[in-house]
Amino acid sequence: MTETKIRIQDDLYQAVNGEWLKTAVIPEDRPTTGGFSDLDQGVEKLMMAEFRAFAAGEKTTDIPEIRYAIALYKKVLDAERRNREGIAPALPLLEKLRGIKTPEALNAQAAELLLEGVELPVQVGVSEDMENAEKHCFVVLGPDLILPDTTYYAEDNESGKQLLAVWSDMAAKVLAFTPLSEAEQKQYLADALAFDALVARKVKSQLEWSEYYKCHNPMDADEVAGFTAPFDLKKLLEDLYGEAAPKTLIVYDPKAVKEMNGYYSGENFDLYIHWAYVNAMLKATPFLSEELAALGKTYKRALRGVSVDPSLEKQAYHLASDMYAEPVGVYYGRTYFGEEAKKDVVAMVHKIIDTYKLRMAKNTFLAASTKEQAIKKLSTIEVKMGYPDEIKPIWSKLVFDEQDSLLPIMRKLREIRQRDMLDKLHKPVDRTEWLMPGHMVNACYNPSANDITFPAAILQKPFYALSQSASENLGGIGAVIGHEISHAFDNNGANFDEHGNLKNWWKEADFAAFQELTKGMIEQFDGIEFHGGKVSGELTVSENIADNGGMGVTLEIMHGLPDADYQAYFKNWARVWCQKAKEEYIRLLLASDVHSPTVLRANMQPRNFPEWYDAFGVTEQDQMYIAPEKRISIW
Ligand SMILES: [Zn+2]
Repeated sequence: MTETKIRIQDDLYQAVNGEWLKTAVIPEDRPTTGGFSDLDQGVEKLMMAEFRAFAAGEKTTDIPEIRYAIALYKKVLDAERRNREGIAPALPLLEKLRGIKTPEALNAQAAELLLEGVELPVQVGVSEDMENAEKHCFVVLGPDLILPDTTYYAEDNESGKQLLAVWSDMAAKVLAFTPLSEAEQKQYLADALAFDALVARKVKSQLEWSEYYKCHNPMDADEVAGFTAPFDLKKLLEDLYGEAAPKTLIVYDPKAVKEMNGYYSGENFDLYIHWAYVNAMLKATPFLSEELAALGKTYKRALRGVSVDPSLEKQAYHLASDMYAEPVGVYYGRTYFGEEAKKDVVAMVHKIIDTYKLRMAKNTFLAASTKEQAIKKLSTIEVKMGYPDEIKPIWSKLVFDEQDSLLPIMRKLREIRQRDMLDKLHKPVDRTEWLMPGHMVNACYNPSANDITFPAAILQKPFYALSQSASENLGGIGAVIGHEISHAFDNNGANFDEHGNLKNWWKEADFAAFQELTKGMIEQFDGIEFHGGKVSGELTVSENIADNGGMGVTLEIMHGLPDADYQAYFKNWARVWCQKAKEEYIRLLLASDVHSPTVLRANMQPRNFPEWYDAFGVTEQDQMYIAPEKRISIW
């Protein structure tokens, strides 16, 4: 181990990662390096070599969908054709939008525009029904904003002003490529900004979105259509579904939808349609000439503090592996994820669930009946490990004419996926669907399915390795598994039952006690100064509860290990959160991410557990000490 002046008792994160942090360089084309990002870069490198070999015909696979992924990959690499065509492939849709002068004209072709990827006055889609997780529902929500959150629109928010200036400058330059006159370009841009400013006052903030169970607001379709008039939502539903048009809609952000007609009726219709035009133009740029593609990414680069775009080859790989995510993930899993590792991690998951049940049974703030319900919920959690056994039919439907230009190809592929999503409305939910592909470095809990997913790509060092000690693996992937399970009982997940239905299964006093503990977790993080900003305890509470639960359950397992090494456990916990990020990106995450900064994830939770104090002899004199009465362990 490298000698370092920082004592582990004062700063676990720095003591473990300090040497690395001194020398690590963030790649020019990425906002972060270290931890998750390193694994992600490793997968990228490995899979790009695979794609190269497939494209060169040096390799074949028995996964047929990969052929299309490779065709798309090659298409992106052919920049010469796109440079020659310039803006031409985007013109038909832009001209169509330019011709829409009234709400009636919009209503007549709204269904078609939706499938072409145009932003309607409200966003619509099909999702799992929170109240009945076996069924789907039709959801309605307000438009997306230019800036990452409503808070950026506050009078005193300087980065909001700067970012809006970057966006405006980019949009003006992109509009100069269109057939619009100079005066029209100015008008369209001003209107787009005015529409965005109107919407920003109505839509939910990231903090409001973070309480996702509050999205379930069933409303009568006629009533919603009354709010969205003169945009004819009923006609859109009929055009999409005919006789089978849904009668009840789920409104995700009622505040925005209820005041909709105010922001695009009368004179405001121009604001909306010009906003939609600018959006359609910007959305097309990644698939046009290299000049337009680079220009269209200016704002995203500024937001993340990234100075250059990834190479064309990286862009080609990412576009193709995102569009064909499941087949690519299955290929990755079959090629790089061993059966032995899979068996080992599945056994670890079951051990963690069993231990969670024991802890739940010993819980001191729940009544017996609530404990029983919680244990039932734990018993029915489904585990998705590595990658799916079979590839769903939608992925083989993603076919295209290889003679076409990239933009129409991308629109066609997105339309197929959009149709598939809309067609699910009257079909039962398929619980065997995976939310994340095998090559993604991440993990998740789905409250509607009560299942957890661990893609093969996260099952690597430092999270997990057969060659690491059991203690290290518990501090890495073990705590992540415990984290995902804890989402079943965080401030959101606690509102769903074992079937994934939004239903109150708590005794009132139990829920009040849980909320009191939740409040304690909010207070632990709220207002911590970080890179010139402050952490929001409320925004990050669900993830902090999950980290707390993940640590509690894995430390419990440590108690039973004959060769438990608590120091190794905590060190590996700090290692997985090792990260260096661009300043702009840190500010973006602070305002919009439900996860706490990685330094705090590493350093805050250990002090809630006695094992931390014993492992390193931490006392009142040390920075990473908190008094026993302030320590919180919820699950
Ligand atoms: Zn989480």
